Amino acid sequence: MESSPDSMTSLTPSINSIREIINEIHEKHRTLNDGSLADYIPELTRANPEWFGIAVTTVDGRQYLVGETAIDFTIQSVSKPFIYGLALDSLGLEEVRKRIDVEPSGEAFNSISLKPSTGQPRNPMINAGAIAATGMIRAPDVETRFRIIMDRFSEFAGEALSIDDSVYRSESETGWRNRGIANLLRNFNIIEGDVDPILEAYFMQCAILVNSRNLSVMGATLANGGINPITGKRVLSPSTVEKVISVMSTCGMYDYSGNWAFEVGIPAKSGVGGGIIGVLPGQLSVAVFSPLLDENFNSVRGIATFRDLSNSLGLHLFNRPSLTDYVIRRSYTLNQFQSSRFRPRKAQEILQREGHRIRVFELQGDLYFGALERLIHAYLRTINENDRVLIDLTRIGGIDEATRTIIFKFARQAFEKGKRIVLVDPKQIFSAGERRSLIPMAFVYNDCDEALEDAEENLLAQYGARMEASVSYGLERMDLLRELGEAELKGLSELVRKRSFEEGQTIIEKGGEPNEVFFLAQGIVGVVLRKENTMAFKQVSSFSPGMSFGELGLLLNEPRTADVVAITEVTVFSLNRDQIERYRQLHPEGYRKILLNALHSMSERLLRANREVAALK
Ligand code: GLN
Repeated sequence: MESSPDSMTSLTPSINSIREIINEIHEKHRTLNDGSLADYIPELTRANPEWFGIAVTTVDGRQYLVGETAIDFTIQSVSKPFIYGLALDSLGLEEVRKRIDVEPSGEAFNSISLKPSTGQPRNPMINAGAIAATGMIRAPDVETRFRIIMDRFSEFAGEALSIDDSVYRSESETGWRNRGIANLLRNFNIIEGDVDPILEAYFMQCAILVNSRNLSVMGATLANGGINPITGKRVLSPSTVEKVISVMSTCGMYDYSGNWAFEVGIPAKSGVGGGIIGVLPGQLSVAVFSPLLDENFNSVRGIATFRDLSNSLGLHLFNRPSLTDYVIRRSYTLNQFQSSRFRPRKAQEILQREGHRIRVFELQGDLYFGALERLIHAYLRTINENDRVLIDLTRIGGIDEATRTIIFKFARQAFEKGKRIVLVDPKQIFSAGERRSLIPMAFVYNDCDEALEDAEENLLAQYGARMEASVSYGLERMDLLRELGEAELKGLSELVRKRSFEEGQTIIEKGGEPNEVFFLAQGIVGVVLRKENTMAFKQVSSFSPGMSFGELGLLLNEPRTADVVAITEVTVFSLNRDQIERYRQLHPEGYRKILLNALHSMSERLLRANREVAALK
């Protein structure tokens, strides 16, 4: 068994259950000796009938390699889906379709299967269609044509491929049937200009050397929507990939295509060199190489292997479990879970009371039609209770064009009903242009906390309880000083120190002595954790005027656990340990009330934390 540099190095083969299954299948079919080597191209009879390799490449670029996956063989007809892709990219769908149909022929690969009226080859997976596709690559001569093909094939494989000259010559010397087909195509003007250079390029393209490992990378590039998963380079456009895989699924196995779809259910293509690739969109590609062929010119062990793999790994395309069941990861309203901003009691009470009007849908997985339909259904069930709905796309993987368009429509309809859709889109699924065009129907935020905070501000504004940036709170409005009598407040005001901080200034430093408590009079402060040795930081919570901070550390007498930073210009009243002690002596009753308030606020925070944990479960 071989392993490639980028295969699963962290898992030893013996504990990798997937590799073990592939191993077992390889072991099972190793002794299958039915079939014969293709001999109509004389050079192909040099193949060793024992060769047998299975290579799997996932769309993440992981590989499972079993058997002779490094033995080179000629790609032959496995080149057909790729050359069809290149023709589509070069001439466009309409032009190519005019010349090559997409109907299964139900005949052998080398049948003269042209539509009588137009001369169109039945499909691009038989020789007639493939020769036509080769003719559609724009090039002045054989060398250029073949160089373009070779370069693009190498991009599919993620490495420089080469040609088996003797197989090429062998086929060129004996390929009379293909010459006949090409001349007929010329007769119908399906190909233009000189027939011979096109035919030679076709023979060369069939003689490109691959092994099952790099063939599986070529297939994985199709499975991955046209981006090579190893190099990260786009080789084909997604719309072309869709068409290529479609014809593979209906025509890829010649007159075995129907049985193949029935039993294996993976779009595939075989070649007389003994290779078969299967492409499972969004998941992986399998390439099997074994040169003994059946009467349809498909690899015998290849078919047996695919049948077992499809079964054991559950790869049949039409036996898909619903991938959309879990699109809504969780759903909650603002009274159950809030932003990380701590707000004074009065604001907090409003959010508790009115928060049910803001709903959050946290999504996960891929957002395709089935998933979006579920979301819209869930949305409509609660629409009467909500003013604003946050759709959190943080954990969304893929989304297609159709779904995007439906989201736009959905946002517009909600807006027309007086509702508001807010998208949380940190991965920039929606481009800057799309975001602009969504306004005012929907807003897009990069961060869920920010979107929650904005929803809170909006709700508080409706109740006149919005924090005014310009207003300064006196000590009498501090949550922690509630119930203090006039004299008690006055006593405190004589001890506190009023201080200002500029935006960005650090008020409390992590690791510092816990010697002060702060009452926030104006502005916003953020509690931030900095990543060591970097400038990066994460804001874990923030405070509005009326709140105090620093009292926890002070009570516990623990070094500061995070930085507290002025997010805006900030004014605070601060009180240090000595001043607190003095206050305790002068106003024992006031001091007792402060402690009770602190206890109260901590209990409330704990309740809120419990509620939020429950909402997130
Ligand atoms: N070069 C071969 C031919 O044209 C390809 C056929 C195949 O692999 N099925 O005959």
